[in-house]
Amino acid sequence: MDRAVDRIVIEGAHVVTVTGQEFAGGHVVVEGNRITAVGPGPAPDRAGARVVDARGCLLTPGLVNTHHHLYQWVTRGLAVDATLFEWLTTLYPVWAGIDEHAVHTGATGALAALARSGCTTTTDHHYVFPREGGDVLGAEIRAAAEVGLRFHPTRGSMDLGRSAGGLPPDHVVEDTATILAASADAVARWHDPSPDSMLRIALAPCSPFSVTGDLMRESAALARELGVRLHTHLAETADEEDFCRERFGCTPTEYVADLGWTGSDVWFAHTVHLDDAAVKTIGTSGTGVAHCPTSNGRLGAGIARVRDLLDAGARVGLGVDGAASNEGTSLLEEVKHAVLFARAVGGPTALGVRRALELGTLGGAQVLGRAAEIGSIEPGKLADLAVWRLDGPLHADVADPVAALVLGAPPPLELLLVNGRPVVEAGEVRTVDGAAVAAACADVHRTLVAKAG
Ligand code: ZN
Repeated sequence: MDRAVDRIVIEGAHVVTVTGQEFAGGHVVVEGNRITAVGPGPAPDRAGARVVDARGCLLTPGLVNTHHHLYQWVTRGLAVDATLFEWLTTLYPVWAGIDEHAVHTGATGALAALARSGCTTTTDHHYVFPREGGDVLGAEIRAAAEVGLRFHPTRGSMDLGRSAGGLPPDHVVEDTATILAASADAVARWHDPSPDSMLRIALAPCSPFSVTGDLMRESAALARELGVRLHTHLAETADEEDFCRERFGCTPTEYVADLGWTGSDVWFAHTVHLDDAAVKTIGTSGTGVAHCPTSNGRLGAGIARVRDLLDAGARVGLGVDGAASNEGTSLLEEVKHAVLFARAVGGPTALGVRRALELGTLGGAQVLGRAAEIGSIEPGKLADLAVWRLDGPLHADVADPVAALVLGAPPPLELLLVNGRPVVEAGEVRTVDGAAVAAACADVHRTLVAKAG
């Protein structure tokens, strides 16, 4: 099937709603772009429907990715044994060469990979806007529409170059006024606040060591005036902690809180290095967190205090982070790594497999402000669903299907519906040509590396 049909009935799967209900051999009915029924046994009415026989499968909400840099798909495998600051200074010159074509190509490859890992909604943090690069934000928005994922891109930014004490070279930063004008323009052009929205914009100055305090403060004011969300990297590494203490005399969390960057309309990527006061600030303000365990491991950044953040009231979702610090970018793998990392530091009860799946679905929806529309399987919600095949040799004898998904080998994705439309079927992305995309990505990677010299 290569197009949406009005009615889809999925039957026979182990259904996990992530709101506390599970139905062995249950059903879900989709009409148009919405879920209209979920429950045990066969669907009461199959008239006029495409019926999906999902016996041997697990049916979950589609996964929600809360942090990414899609363009990095074409800059993978560089500085593989470096610290964050070493890795960034190696990659900034490569990223400086991106343009519309590179971003469209890389984003297509990255979005297809996300879809294959069960992701139905993703954000993106794009903060590199070369002067001759063209409309790079528009290029990734076009890629998301082609692949078919629900998309929350951010208009990111950097305005603190090396000559002013920042980390990025001066030629990859923009001036503050240009950034604010482009941010307002991105919201006006693309932001769709409707409940069925496939596209919402947020504003996202990059990090304390690459943007000015003025940009942080003015971005927050602009986002609140326009009714969009705010996102940034925070407390990723010990180097960032040192930078903030030396430059501002406080922790990264104290710094951004003072600039107006806490609240339910804000979410931070990483939050690895938090003291107790920072955990409390994030929790009591209802600020969101994008937990990116694979990237944090890849860069040796540390392990975020997810259990403490949840106990403090923070909203926590999962993120793959950019592909240059997570070559696999499997969102399902983040669910597993969230469990393993939490238990490695907090013991066997620190995070359960069902709670981790909830973070990867409903938790992400809460972080992006979409919990009323996506993130769980409930009648009235949008039809973003993942059907995982668990009757193959790697999973058939695992007693608990949720454990098979979260702790076992990544299973084949039988079907991925986004807004009621099939994007993946029988493990293959149906919306784009995977081989052609891979060849184009390899070509762009070679060009960017050669350009950086
Ligand atoms: Zn990031």
